Amino acid sequence: MKKRILLMILAVGMLLQASVASAACATEEDHRYGSWRVKTSATCTRQGHEFKYCTRCDHWEQRRTPKLPHTPDQWVVTVEPTCVKKGRETATCTVCNNEIYRAIDMLEHAYGEMTVTKEPTCTQNGRGEYVCGDCGKKKSQSIEKLGHAWSEIAVSKEATCTKTGKGTKTCQRCGRESDIEIEKVEHAWNWGVTREPNGTKKGEKTGICAACGTEKKEYFYWEGTLYLDMTPCAEVIRMQEKLKDLDLYHGSISAGAVGKYGKLTAQAVENFQKANGMKATGVADPQTLEAISKAWEAKTGKTDAEMLNPQEMENAAEAQPAGA
Ligand SMILES: [Zn+2]
Ligand SMILES: [Zn+2]
Ligand SMILES: [Zn+2]
Ligand SMILES: [Zn+2]
Ligand SMILES: [Zn+2]
Repeated sequence: MKKRILLMILAVGMLLQASVASAACATEEDHRYGSWRVKTSATCTRQGHEFKYCTRCDHWEQRRTPKLPHTPDQWVVTVEPTCVKKGRETATCTVCNNEIYRAIDMLEHAYGEMTVTKEPTCTQNGRGEYVCGDCGKKKSQSIEKLGHAWSEIAVSKEATCTKTGKGTKTCQRCGRESDIEIEKVEHAWNWGVTREPNGTKKGEKTGICAACGTEKKEYFYWEGTLYLDMTPCAEVIRMQEKLKDLDLYHGSISAGAVGKYGKLTAQAVENFQKANGMKATGVADPQTLEAISKAWEAKTGKTDAEMLNPQEMENAAEAQPAGA
């Protein structure tokens, strides 16, 4: 019993002592260190040793600092490098007097010219080899295959406008043959007008191939005819300008869509034709265009030559902002 009490007193005493010792710094964060102090300086043969002390308690920390580099007097090559082994340089440290070493990188292999060990063919890669003159090391390299050297096509069956032809090309190196299909040729059209254009109705022309007799029809107006929804062009602008001067056309004159032959234009042409005893079609065939020109010249006293030429008109129209 007495012994237990004694032990308890001892334990309490130890606890008290511990709390006194760490009174100032209860946890790691509480320490307040001064700066590191050098106890032993580092040299080229020995690590340094530094301490810092807590200003609140008797705790301290230590650390090692790395060795300093040696101070070589002069590097001397003691082992020459080769293409298979590193070399070595040696010097003496002026501080510690020890011999110090450093490696010299290996040299590149001294490869000579390539020797072909397997010739490439049309379809298979070849191989070449390099040898190091110093160590005998070999390095292999692929040589790109050559591809076939095709001849001109020898035609065995001529192509027509209905059937493809046949031919053969031959490799001048390996003799390999390859069959070639030759594309059909164009039909040789002979065109004839089978119906003339009449008013709003386009004419019809028929083409017959002289070689195979194939027939094809196309619909057309005579050259120089202007008509509804045709591809816009400057000729339409010239006609619109004249119809405007004749007080028949009141639509816009194509900025944006250059010389567009729209419904208003067709109506103006139709009105002109009615007023001049012509068949009212709204299609400006060459006859109608000539009549418009004449009427315009009579009214304005101007001539066609005084108008801008079609190219100038197109340029002028394109220069205007769209919708103007
Ligand atoms: Zn402390
Ligand atoms: Zn040294
Ligand atoms: Zn080598
Ligand atoms: Zn070949
Ligand atoms: Zn044909």
